[in-house]
Order: sequence, then C-alpha cells, then structure tokens
Amino acid sequence: MVTPLANDVWWYDLSGTNAFLVDDDTLTLVDAGMGFHASELIGGLRAAGFELRDLDRILLTHFDMDHVGGLGAFDGTEVTIHVGAADAPLVTGERKPPLSNHKGLIQRLGGPLVSAPDNPVEPVEDGDTVGTFTVYETPGHTPGHVCYVSESLSTAFLGDLVRESGGRLEPSPWVVSYDTAAVERSLRSLVERAPAFEVAAMGHGVPFKREGSRRLADVVTTL
Ligand SMILES: [Zn+2]
Repeated sequence: MVTPLANDVWWYDLSGTNAFLVDDDTLTLVDAGMGFHASELIGGLRAAGFELRDLDRILLTHFDMDHVGGLGAFDGTEVTIHVGAADAPLVTGERKPPLSNHKGLIQRLGGPLVSAPDNPVEPVEDGDTVGTFTVYETPGHTPGHVCYVSESLSTAFLGDLVRESGGRLEPSPWVVSYDTAAVERSLRSLVERAPAFEVAAMGHGVPFKREGSRRLADVVTTL
C-alpha cells in the first residue's frame, strides 16, 4: 500500500501515478491520485499507522486529474488543500483550463474525472513555507506547478517537473506540458535555489531515496 522512503515519508505507488505521505508533526498528503484511488489513499494512511482524522493538510504539486482526482476522498474532513496560486482556480472550479494550449485541452478532456473539493483551498507562492516545506514555483508542466522541499526531512516533492524513466530523471515532455521552455527555466532555478536533499519524490516513476538533488542537477546538464 505504502512504502517508506525515509523516516516519516511514505510513497503510494498508485497505478501510473504517485502520491506521498509525510509526517513533519503535521500529517500531510502530497498529491491525491485519480478518483478511483480514493480507497487506496485512505488505506495507505492506515498502513502507515494513522487514521483519516489524523490528516491535516494536502499539498498539491499541480492541477491534473491524476494528482487531484482523489481529493473527493477527503470531502467532509478538516483538511486544508495547498496548491500553487496559478492552478488554484482550476482546483476550486472557478476557472477552466484554456482551450488555446494543447495541455489545457488535455485537462479539459479530463474534466469529467475531476470535481471541486469541499475543503478550503489555500493558494501558495514562491518562498511560502508550509510546515517544514518551502514552496518553489516551477511553472511549465502547468502554469501553477510548484515543488515542495523540506531541508529537515531532506526530501523534495517534485511533482511532474521531472519524472523517472530507466533509473534517471527527465524533464516533463512537450505533450503533457504547457510550456517546455518554462519547464527548463524552472529546473535550472530549482537546482540553483533549493537546498541539497536525498529523497527525490516525483509524480511518476520510482522515487529516489538517495542523492536526489545531485540527480536533479544532472538533468540540467542535459538541457
Ligand atoms: Zn502527473
């Protein structure tokens, strides 16, 4: 159900997409899978030794159906959802993805699989802190994509800025990105600004338990 990546960090290997659980004194879910992952999300909490009522917050790396689809599992709880400011109106349903961008079109097609959550949605911006995590705006895959880095947990949640393939990290490809030039700028900026971390936890592929920041820096050398 869930696999430990480090002390107080767990990986949900959902079919085709990842979510994570972190206990930095506040129990936090990172991303929420698809709608049909709801029972796995709740089951993973129990497998890690918690109950649904223990969950305090959800950090979303971005708005995409495979990261927000399972939010409905937390309707009726007190959980606060944090998401990058530019993606927040898409999560709340106040705005629809633009038809003018190929990725926006993909998001529109996934619309029926996504519903606005009941919980409060808190937009986050570059430099904000949530618990032990610092927010890094990393637009490109989506306009409001953010990464969350905790120096004390030596862990980075990288969302879909990069994904693992064949044991390496690679940047978000064109077909699923709003803007690949922005992906590259975001990658360079994150590598320059973020502290060193061991655990690199991405939205897709197998997370790395060691040398996460070094592996991320390696991606920049290939751009
Ligand atoms: Zn994704």
